Amino acid sequence: MLKRRNYIIITTFLLSVYFCILASYQTNATELKQSRLQLCNSKNIGTELEPIDNQELFRPEILFKTKSFGTLSLPAVPFPSIHPTAKKAKIPVMMYHDIIPEKKVIYDLTPQELNKDFEIIKAAQITPISINKLVAHLRTGSPLPKKPILLTFDDGYGGHYEYAYPLLKKYGYPAVFAVHTSAVGINTGRSHVTWQQLKSMVNDPLITISSHSRTHPALTKISDKQLEQEIIESKRLLESKLNKKIIYFTYPYGNYDSRVKKIVSEAGYVAAIAFGTPSEMFAAQSEDLFAISRFEKSRLESVIPQASGNPTFPNCNS
Ligand SMILES: [Zn+2]
Repeated sequence: MLKRRNYIIITTFLLSVYFCILASYQTNATELKQSRLQLCNSKNIGTELEPIDNQELFRPEILFKTKSFGTLSLPAVPFPSIHPTAKKAKIPVMMYHDIIPEKKVIYDLTPQELNKDFEIIKAAQITPISINKLVAHLRTGSPLPKKPILLTFDDGYGGHYEYAYPLLKKYGYPAVFAVHTSAVGINTGRSHVTWQQLKSMVNDPLITISSHSRTHPALTKISDKQLEQEIIESKRLLESKLNKKIIYFTYPYGNYDSRVKKIVSEAGYVAAIAFGTPSEMFAAQSEDLFAISRFEKSRLESVIPQASGNPTFPNCNS
């Protein structure tokens, strides 16, 4: 009799535990469905979603913060490939060089001309994004603003600090400054940024400093040992001087091959910016994260009508 009573008590207890667990799963599932529906219907999710700072962007999941939905995690494709959803977007990455009042070569732009480019971007309702946001998108297909663009400035010129940086702050545009360490603080007929100027910009969320090697050689033409010095030593020096992780590399002259790419990826960089190899194309048309293609600044007006992000959350139609 006692045994039978115990049996009933235990069974009742186990059944209630089971129903409690089932009910909580159902609540979670309903909540998840609800928040997914809200995410899918959110018109601003591409603008709101920002990858969380200081996370390892190589990881199989990337964490994002949003104002409306808190922290979200999205699965990434295997590193360093590009997510199929991201391939539907067209994100131009623009390449600028020196910003200088008196132009000497075709790569130069005056501060007034740069201001004009920023006005064109603004008038076309294009949204400049950070390279972290681009890379997080390329790995996960995360939504972006409707018409995104990435701005990059090569060769660590003094004009980047003196003219480009104030304009980027004025417009609130993020950008990448690619610096080759042997030129820092040097005047070669053109001034280059000093360590002090780099230190004053490195913690500004608008600015990402990328390594552009040590001495700016054509990387495909030098030995493995020299390559390691250019790629690894420049990273180490920038990190120790600026007290910040340097996770992006910009190939000098856009020059790279599989050997160069391998050393760049093994050195701990998350992505590398090329130029127009094999041709100028949008970011997600690039082979992978170690070959991000760009357009020369003169192409700005021809590429911005094509710029498009993925403004919606992935897999909303499935
Ligand atoms: Zn360069």
